[in-house]
Amino acid sequence: MRAQPKASHYVNGSYLDDAQGAELASIHPATGEPIALLRAATPNVVELAMEAARAAQPAWARLKPVERGRILRRAADILRARNDELSQLETLDTGKPIQETTVADAASAADALEFFAGAIAVYNGEMVDLGGPFGYTRREPLGVCVGIGAWNYPIQVAGWKSAPALAMGNAMVFKPSENTPLSALALAEVYSEAGLPDGLFNVVQGYGDVGSALVSHPLTAKVSVTGSVPTGRKVLGLAGSQMKHATMELGGKSPLIVFDDADLENAIGGAMLGNFYSSGQVCSNGTRVFVQRGLHDRFLERLAARTKNIRIGDPFDPETQMGPLISKAQHEKVLAYIETGKSEGATLVCGGNVPSLQGFEGGFFVEPTVFSGVTDTMTIAREEIFGPVMSVLSFDEEDEVIARANGTEFGLAAGVFTRDLPRAHRVVREMQAGTCWINAYNLTPVELPFGGYKQSGIGRENALAALGHYSQVKSVYVETGDVESPY
Ligand code: NDP
Repeated sequence: MRAQPKASHYVNGSYLDDAQGAELASIHPATGEPIALLRAATPNVVELAMEAARAAQPAWARLKPVERGRILRRAADILRARNDELSQLETLDTGKPIQETTVADAASAADALEFFAGAIAVYNGEMVDLGGPFGYTRREPLGVCVGIGAWNYPIQVAGWKSAPALAMGNAMVFKPSENTPLSALALAEVYSEAGLPDGLFNVVQGYGDVGSALVSHPLTAKVSVTGSVPTGRKVLGLAGSQMKHATMELGGKSPLIVFDDADLENAIGGAMLGNFYSSGQVCSNGTRVFVQRGLHDRFLERLAARTKNIRIGDPFDPETQMGPLISKAQHEKVLAYIETGKSEGATLVCGGNVPSLQGFEGGFFVEPTVFSGVTDTMTIAREEIFGPVMSVLSFDEEDEVIARANGTEFGLAAGVFTRDLPRAHRVVREMQAGTCWINAYNLTPVELPFGGYKQSGIGRENALAALGHYSQVKSVYVETGDVESPY
């Protein structure tokens, strides 16, 4: 299978390559075989992309918001019309099952484009009565914004960043993860087809060094990163030293709390979604599942039974429910965490092995894995694994579980399953997390802001909050009388 794009980068409305760039191979994670060979951006490519963005942005910002929105809306329609083709590309590049990519990737990017296409028309400043004189505020774009993406939801991340940036009147230069370079190029083509003027959405490929070249470029006004906490720290430090705006969507080790009175099957369904979807490569996953003592054993028994039924295999088979991890490096990392879990004394309930799948021997598969008897201090309960590894911990009291759930440097998300609604609201109020779910897990509609507390990030994506992070406020004072001057 091949998915070779016309060229590596998309700059100023056209594909572009530079043979001097370092080789960058895209691998199909289910087989380990290359599907495309690209090149990382050279300084020349970065310069062309930044300059194209700078040149295109002012005219775009002067359009009526509703006119910018119309183009985004058209792009959303094209994404939806091409959903099958884009889902196949995403499955090839990420290894995620086609039953997931069909509903969660290009479709989610389309939702973002559609939402911001409408929202921008009503996103205005304020009028302030000053008792005679008055003031008003204008929300103005920042200029050239840089987006840097992770590999778990490549087109979704590109859409979540570019839609509010463009709606607000900015231009964007986007760097996908080196593991998943393909679908951002497809999104760039869609934007062009929808009528987005050249230079407003550019894609450059590369490793971390290209990311930092973009962040430190003098034309960059803002950077938005989706990635790990260590990368976020580096980028935020660099952006901060140059006084640039920054949004950080980083990792997590989120708690999912199941009380005795919860609906058992729903709670298990939520825990499985929050640990095994996308082979566990989801930033907001509820990887610390706290189950109250009275339900604990029944929970584990049913969880193990349902987990053993997960169909793992060829991601292109519509029946497949779990595909491989993204890369050999991630595969090794997740297997090492499983060994650490065992050696630190957690009980392996199910999974933990590399499945033998005929025809996919070179793939990066790991069985869905559940550990019980996990304590707060174990490595698997503290560090983000980013693989299909669930830790089940038991608890007795509400106060106790709140303290333990918050006992982490991360704060991306939290979930609670209970039939006691006052308790549900009481508990989520105490959670130090940017997104909380009650009797659900891992749903991230574009209408709700998404982002982290503590080390999990700064700023928000989605909802009107994202428009705030892609704009700056200008205050205007208007005098309606004479100037009172002592001179
Ligand atoms: P990384 O942090 O390794 O990389 C993220 C992006 O940053 C990649 O494009 C990477 O390029 C780039 N990058 C790396 N170093 C630098 C640098 N010094 N300057 C600028 N850019 C740099 O994350 P992963 O791709 O491994 O993604 C997994 C992580 O992302 C997990 O921790 C996960 O929790 C988090 N994540 C967070 C989400 C959220 O919304 N909060 C959503 C999805 C994932 P390259 O890949 O080429 O090295």
